[in-house]
Amino acid sequence: MKKHDVIIVGGGLAGLRAAWKVSEVADTAVVSKLHPLRSHTGAAQGGIAASLGNETPDSWEEHMFDTVKGSDYLGDQNAIETLVKEAPKTIYDLEHLGVAFSRTEEGKIAQRPFGGHQKPRSCYAADWTGHTLLHTVYEQCIPKTIAFYDEWFALSLAVRDGVCRGIVALDIRTGEVEAFHSKAVILATGGYGRAFKITSNALANTGDGLGMALRAGLPLEDMEFVQFHPTGLYRQGILLTEGARGEGGYLVNGDGDRFMRNYAPEKMELAPRDVISRAEQTEIDQGRGGEGKDFVYLDLRHLGEAKINEKLPQLRDLARSFVGVDPVKDLVPIQPTAHYSMGGIPTTVTGQVISDEKNAPVTGLFAAGECACISVHGANRLGTNSLLDAALFGHKAAVATIEYLNEADFHPFPEEVMIEGVTRVKWVREANGRESAPKLRHELQETMTQKCGVFRDREKLEECLAKVKELQKRFDDIGIGDRSKSFNTEVTEALETQNMLDFSEIIVYGAMQREECRGAHWRVDHPGRDDENWLKHTIAFQKEDGIELRYKDVVITRYPPKERGY
Ligand SMILES: Cc1cc2nc3c(=O)[nH]c(=O)nc-3n(C[C@H](O)[C@H](O)[C@H](O)COP(=O)(O)OP(=O)(O)OC[C@H]3O[C@@H](n4cnc5c(N)ncnc54)[C@H](O)[C@@H]3O)c2cc1C
Repeated sequence: MKKHDVIIVGGGLAGLRAAWKVSEVADTAVVSKLHPLRSHTGAAQGGIAASLGNETPDSWEEHMFDTVKGSDYLGDQNAIETLVKEAPKTIYDLEHLGVAFSRTEEGKIAQRPFGGHQKPRSCYAADWTGHTLLHTVYEQCIPKTIAFYDEWFALSLAVRDGVCRGIVALDIRTGEVEAFHSKAVILATGGYGRAFKITSNALANTGDGLGMALRAGLPLEDMEFVQFHPTGLYRQGILLTEGARGEGGYLVNGDGDRFMRNYAPEKMELAPRDVISRAEQTEIDQGRGGEGKDFVYLDLRHLGEAKINEKLPQLRDLARSFVGVDPVKDLVPIQPTAHYSMGGIPTTVTGQVISDEKNAPVTGLFAAGECACISVHGANRLGTNSLLDAALFGHKAAVATIEYLNEADFHPFPEEVMIEGVTRVKWVREANGRESAPKLRHELQETMTQKCGVFRDREKLEECLAKVKELQKRFDDIGIGDRSKSFNTEVTEALETQNMLDFSEIIVYGAMQREECRGAHWRVDHPGRDDENWLKHTIAFQKEDGIELRYKDVVITRYPPKERGY
């Protein structure tokens, strides 16, 4: 058994920010299924938000209003206030750690416009922002005494009697399962976009932390809110940053028309993502797409080669490599792509995980980053607010953990969680049924994209739910061809698929119950936002006899809900 004061699961921006801070006072370990530098944070391109006001005067109040409105009034305003007030300090802290932000001519941190933000407040490092952040924070973790368990796959949380006592994890290199005993655990396992076929997310974004929470009897919050990003490369889903539109890019349909004038005449291409994704899907569904009619275009040609090379070098490379077009002279084919999980493991503003709709805390368990739901993004996240969320609330979860350590001790490790972990891995490795886990994963992705996507209705959602349940049953009959222990990706992928099947049921079930349109959740059979019945958070539990939904009030402090137009 391994033993550390604090175990952080995940080596992305949230996990590393937390590790950097906690390790000042406690024996800290980072358990990550990937080498930390391969975390999805590294793929973030566009930027990280703060009202620095370096380009035009700005204030946290304006950032707050934009975020509340962007969330379609589902975000908790106490949490959003924390996010926006502490954003500038977070940026300067990161700068002092060594993050090489792009600069204005006078040498200040440059800021560019982003969708849904009224002011240019995205701080960026060309279109390599996440890469720069991740490398810098990781470098700063190296001189600290942090135990890095790279390529360890966390299986389960050891929660007993409302107290978290560590985790159980699989060593991918040896195939052995081990218990990690700790006083506190911080979950920072990232998003779950891989549950969809067309997605911008890395292969590893399979929502394992959500599966771990569910298996420990904990609920998930607002899972029906999945963000679809408007500029995924056609068929690939690979992201082309919103920074492209921030720099002045257009969206045009197959007839060359800048169609956003019909959907968001004021904000045009800088409307929030939910609004633009629906506009694109409408153009496609009504036959105004390009070529085969199933995509629209991003047009950057008027920006010129010099600007594209300076501000959007990665985008140019991605377009050339993956669809063979050069944005300097060609239109780039795009479509909406599953991008971000607004929902997740419910926490308080300090990162403390809660176990029900009444905010009962789980002692010793914290969560931060994309796997957590605080909720600062509500029904729709604004671009550049999530790197901020990960950095800021990763830090906050660390501060709360340090405070907790003052009074915390090691509680006995529940042996049965270890036995369950060993049994689960053995079952998967020795499975000799007729179903193929990769095929089940593929069918899940197909059905989630087709039936639980940008536009939803009861009929499609019912079909989707039936399919997810069928896949869950078929999972019991999987067969594994590779019985080896070392780097057995067939086994780890099957474990991921099991997690995806679990939380996908909650996404679909929550979407079925929520009969309204709010942010990214759009029910064509229930037009309009329904504040009277649905201005509330979904708290979903996985029970023996199915999903149980409970609801929780939204925290409203400054900005009462009003109509959301752009
Ligand atoms: C292509 C792309 C571009 C983006 N661009 C932007 C942007 O410009 N601005 C912005 O604000 N946001 C952006 N986002 C969103 C943002 O990058 C993420 O929300 C954020 O980086 C998440 O950080 P994280 O630390 O929570 O998770 P991640 O960086 O995804 O890290 C998750 C970590 O958890 C570990 N892990 C997962 N499961 C397990 C397990 N079972 N056992 C052990 N370890 C595990 C992984 O190894 C990894 O280290 C973008 C996202 C994508 C996909």
